[in-house]
Amino acid sequence: MTNIAQADALAIARDLLRCRSVTPAEGGALSFIERLLKSAGFTVHRVTFVEPGSAPVENLYARIGAVSPNFVFAGHTDVVPPGDEARWTHPPFAGNDAGGNLYGRGAVDMKGAIACAIAAALEYVAGSGGQPRGSISFLITGDEEGIAVNGTVKLLRWAAERGEKFDHCLLGEPSNVQKIGDTIKIGRRGSLNGTLIVTGKQGHVAYPERADNPVRGIVALMSALMAAPLDQGTAHFGPSNLEFTSVDVGNPAVNVIPAEARARFNIRFNDCHSQISLQTLIERRTAQAAGERLRWRIEWEPSNADSFLLKADPFLDLVCNAVKEVTAIEPQLSTSGGTSDARFIKDYCPVVEFGLVGQTMHQVDECTPVADLSLLTVIYQRVLDRYFESQDGLSS
Ligand SMILES: [Zn+2]
Repeated sequence: MTNIAQADALAIARDLLRCRSVTPAEGGALSFIERLLKSAGFTVHRVTFVEPGSAPVENLYARIGAVSPNFVFAGHTDVVPPGDEARWTHPPFAGNDAGGNLYGRGAVDMKGAIACAIAAALEYVAGSGGQPRGSISFLITGDEEGIAVNGTVKLLRWAAERGEKFDHCLLGEPSNVQKIGDTIKIGRRGSLNGTLIVTGKQGHVAYPERADNPVRGIVALMSALMAAPLDQGTAHFGPSNLEFTSVDVGNPAVNVIPAEARARFNIRFNDCHSQISLQTLIERRTAQAAGERLRWRIEWEPSNADSFLLKADPFLDLVCNAVKEVTAIEPQLSTSGGTSDARFIKDYCPVVEFGLVGQTMHQVDECTPVADLSLLTVIYQRVLDRYFESQDGLSS
């Protein structure tokens, strides 16, 4: 039952998990991938990006084949920190498998899926005489879990400047909820951060008539912003949501009315909104609640996370069918969860997210069933087979 690629996927995943690649550290993960892909005939580029105020981050782009279509596997080898390693049953960077599970930070998010993609691609290349019918590429970043400024966004630009063209992309983020096959992600919500600031007048609590307490004002404005939904949701998205995450006065004295109060918030928004339309809506609602009485302003943070949705697309059908054929499950098309690098890739080519089951991601004892690695490898193999069989039908 197990084919070579499935066995390889487990071995590759184990070796990747042993690399301590907590963002922004490369940890040997990209070097390991470079060696594997080079030995199969891929041309591999290692590119480091820097930006003032952030750590330099290594990235990798590899390609085999010189003609279109160029099928891209995308992903990240960086992982979130393990936290207190003593709390792990299996050490987070040991790559232990036990009881049918492979343990380690990044097992599902997302070194496991990268291992499956590499195993599937190597098998495909070997099976087609060392040369695919088009091209297969890997777009692997080390800056996804961090602030994501020295990763995929720059790697895509770098590749485009070199004349690279991407036709379709499969991003291996852990898309599934309960089991392999249940969910494909076809879009993501956007994310926007802001700080609401109300200015008052400092004074003695015993003489409130001589002061103007901004706490009263900020409470009123916060309730107003939390009162009504931002929209009703759309066909593929739930309603947009605003959450206050911190309320700060920074006042150490109980007998002083503070001069200023601040409240930070995050909005996860659907395709009803752009960042601009959302800012306009929030500021209008705040102005209405504040009237003439309150002095307020909102500081918006720059965001590179707009919402997006892949509309009906032959590539999506192809991935859905491959999942269905292998698992006998009809996958749900979802836009749930946080942001991902798909938000950058979608500007270059259609992108679909399908990977492992996300339940343990970012947790202590992150793990994946070994059987899931096998299943995902078979699905990726099926996608490659169908993709290069039907490449004329997919050209868009
Ligand atoms: Zn991830």
